[in-house]
Amino acid sequence: MKYFSLNHNSQDVSFLDAVRKGLAPDRGLYFPNEIPKLPEVFYNNIKKFSNHDIAFQVIKPFVGDDIPVDSLRKIVEDTLNFDFPIVPITETMATLELFQGPTLAFKDVGARFMARCLSYANEVKKTDKLTILVATSGDTGGAVADGFYKVEGIQVVILYPKGKVSEIQEKQLTTLGENITAIEVNGTFDDCQDMVKSAFIDADLIQSMPLTSANSINIARWLSQMFYYFIAFKNRITPDKKLAVSVPSGNFGNICAGLVAKEMGLPIDQFIASTNINDTVPDYLNSGTYSPKKSKPTLSNAMDVGDPSNFIRIQKLFNNDIFKLKKILKGYHYTDSQTKKAIKEIYEISGYIADPHGAIGYLGLKEFLESTSDAYQGLFFETAHPIKFVETVENTLKTSIEVPERLKGILNRKKESVSIQTYEQLKSFLLES
Ligand SMILES: *Cc1c(COP(=O)(O)O)cnc(C)c1O
Repeated sequence: MKYFSLNHNSQDVSFLDAVRKGLAPDRGLYFPNEIPKLPEVFYNNIKKFSNHDIAFQVIKPFVGDDIPVDSLRKIVEDTLNFDFPIVPITETMATLELFQGPTLAFKDVGARFMARCLSYANEVKKTDKLTILVATSGDTGGAVADGFYKVEGIQVVILYPKGKVSEIQEKQLTTLGENITAIEVNGTFDDCQDMVKSAFIDADLIQSMPLTSANSINIARWLSQMFYYFIAFKNRITPDKKLAVSVPSGNFGNICAGLVAKEMGLPIDQFIASTNINDTVPDYLNSGTYSPKKSKPTLSNAMDVGDPSNFIRIQKLFNNDIFKLKKILKGYHYTDSQTKKAIKEIYEISGYIADPHGAIGYLGLKEFLESTSDAYQGLFFETAHPIKFVETVENTLKTSIEVPERLKGILNRKKESVSIQTYEQLKSFLLES
């Protein structure tokens, strides 16, 4: 399988080259040259396959000859070493928990898969040492730090805004050590992101070290998110009904992977993009005009994105045909006060404690189900554990949430970080390390 740049001004590359590069040299996102279909027997027999079997079958054509099947199988098994439970909420709605990974974020799957692909490239293909530079507002950094921890040949540098991530998130970034360095930036998330962008176009840096990113523009992070949708289909509660999936969306990497899965033949009938007030895509689906905006802060902060980077891939998948897209994808957006009301409502009807992102997924699913007379089974994705948004959830529900066992250890570990304020300081740090 080859990948081309959506800016159409770079050479096609193989899977591992695209993973190492992140963005194409012309700054375009990579996109697969074709989207293969899986045979009908695979879908008819999906119940018989383990999550590992499914993930392997799904990703194999996208990896092509770059990683031999034995190694790929091992990578997939290491990536998916936790469960994806489905929890019923009402007669017609259930949630699929994607947050059971080591950092309690759904981004664990993509980060773990990408790390293992790069580790394979380094060990077997003897590729050069690679530095991964990421800016995080919270969840991405933790998942990337954990996913790449002790991976040979890879140095990870994570920038985060001082005082603007939660205590748990900060500990996840700053207590690992080894090949993970946390840089505490005296500024905002946007400042962190600007520094990362400057680094990627800084000739001095590019010449002295191979540099890449680990956000969802990277095809290894993006495509491995397809696994969730196949697992959702396999474990759906009422197989005789149509299936609708609601995805709390920010950069739209996750839902775009779902749309690729559908293109591979996966029978999901309806996709719902659920957002907070950063509603660029729902607005596009209504108005037909795509107008990116500045992001606005909300309680569901992992979705505070005004110009979703993966939207261009969705456009490509549907050949810019908004009518075709609107048949499969609905979009709804919600305020913080609606989000809090939803957290309460879910708790009252089912006893389930949702985080603000999952609650928005619930609202989108509910609105869709109310708008249709067809009989659907609805699933909304729960993308983070409520403990990560403990203040919002506890204040809304007036109850306390227990800290999961695997987080307790991390809270006692010692923070280590490098403090900076300017891009020049980041650059000197990178050049010296
Ligand atoms: C990153 C994230 C999202 C948004 O996912 P995208 O793929 O960027 O649309 C939603 N919820 C949580 C908790 C996240 O961390």
